[in-house]
Amino acid sequence: MPADNGAASLDAASLDDRDPLAAFRSEFELPDGIYLVGNSLGALPSAARANVEAELDRWSTLGVTGHFTGSLAWKRYHELLTGQLAAIVGAQSNEVVAMNALTVNLHLLMVSFYQPAGKRNKVLIEGHAFPSDHFAVESQIRQRGLDPADALVMVEPRSGEETLRTSDILDAIAEIGDELALVMLPGVQYYTGQRLPMAEIVEAGHAAGATVGFDLAHAAGNVELELHEWGVDFAAWCSYKYLNGGPGAVGGAFVHERHVNDQSLPKLLGWWGTNPETRFAMTNQFDAIPTVESWQLSNAPILSMAALRASLDMIERAGGMPALRAKNEQQIRFLDARLEQLAGRVANISPKNLSERGCQYALQVLGGNGKQVHEELEKAGVYCDWREPDVIRVAPVPLYNSFADIDRFVDILDEVTQSNGGETA
Ligand SMILES: *Cc1c(COP(=O)(O)O)cnc(C)c1O
Repeated sequence: MPADNGAASLDAASLDDRDPLAAFRSEFELPDGIYLVGNSLGALPSAARANVEAELDRWSTLGVTGHFTGSLAWKRYHELLTGQLAAIVGAQSNEVVAMNALTVNLHLLMVSFYQPAGKRNKVLIEGHAFPSDHFAVESQIRQRGLDPADALVMVEPRSGEETLRTSDILDAIAEIGDELALVMLPGVQYYTGQRLPMAEIVEAGHAAGATVGFDLAHAAGNVELELHEWGVDFAAWCSYKYLNGGPGAVGGAFVHERHVNDQSLPKLLGWWGTNPETRFAMTNQFDAIPTVESWQLSNAPILSMAALRASLDMIERAGGMPALRAKNEQQIRFLDARLEQLAGRVANISPKNLSERGCQYALQVLGGNGKQVHEELEKAGVYCDWREPDVIRVAPVPLYNSFADIDRFVDILDEVTQSNGGETA
């Protein structure tokens, strides 16, 4: 689908007809309107109801024995998610676990992988990091008795530019060099939608002698990942965005195989990290599970995991991330082509290159009345979000958004930007 404005590239109906994933839309319960905020909260898979209901039934009939009974025994329930999550992030099953929530996991992993030693104590993040990530890193630095004013280094887009240049990130890493302890960056940036070159960042970080971790909140379930192959030290993500796990869903964590059984790493411990065979012997002898599961603290949130399994099953049935990404690239080309019609009124600040972006667009209304345009879009039934200071985020999600959704969205955006006088810019 070339973005050439040819008639074929603008025909949503025929694209939907030819879409091998089109049927998955009917397996979701979507709010009325055009749902384009999978970047914030993925839609509800109908099967999540049945999965959650099944666990409520087991709770009702089995009570506490549900922990040990049958193939869905809660004691090992988290293991049911591991294989599918590992496939989504490109990992081995000993490297991935569903646990806690994103910010909690970032903290747990930084306890292990941020090890300041002498002058090697700096953490490189991006200047526009999601506030929770920024707070987490700052507080980790203080926790080690260091001052963020010295130890926190931020890489920023150049003045007048919206996205980060790869060369600026790599130069920053090389420059900090033997003072760099940790690089922590997003896989996909939450505001601009920019996808960072993770493999290159890992290589540069390791060459400088640092560990490299990623926040995959906007990458997991959005773009193809090869965490194992790339040698990423650790990563964490939430499951309520592109993984459709539901509000506050259980998060995920990755630790590379070369670290999972390293007992010399500092780590916060809990009973869910110890050998399940002896866990209930209630001794005070910690016997670390020889996988990333040893980072687990508490018994698992079963209802949340039950809901998430519905979505993971669907992603697997759809053909996994390669299939999702193939459709998404078509959707991106289609939306890019349609937005050309609004050039001069609306600009997408996400990178143009497909390899540097996922589903999400960051639309700026030229003329500066973006907030008002966002309100008009919502009134017209478009679910999208406003992020300060000035973008409207929309994300066509391959499993449940049709090309017709995109088409109608652009029609509405066209209308509201005309009536908002955005053309003056
Ligand atoms: C969504 C998001 C979060 C949210 O963190 P929680 O701990 O799940 O509340 C954090 N960081 C980034 C980059 C995000 O996109």
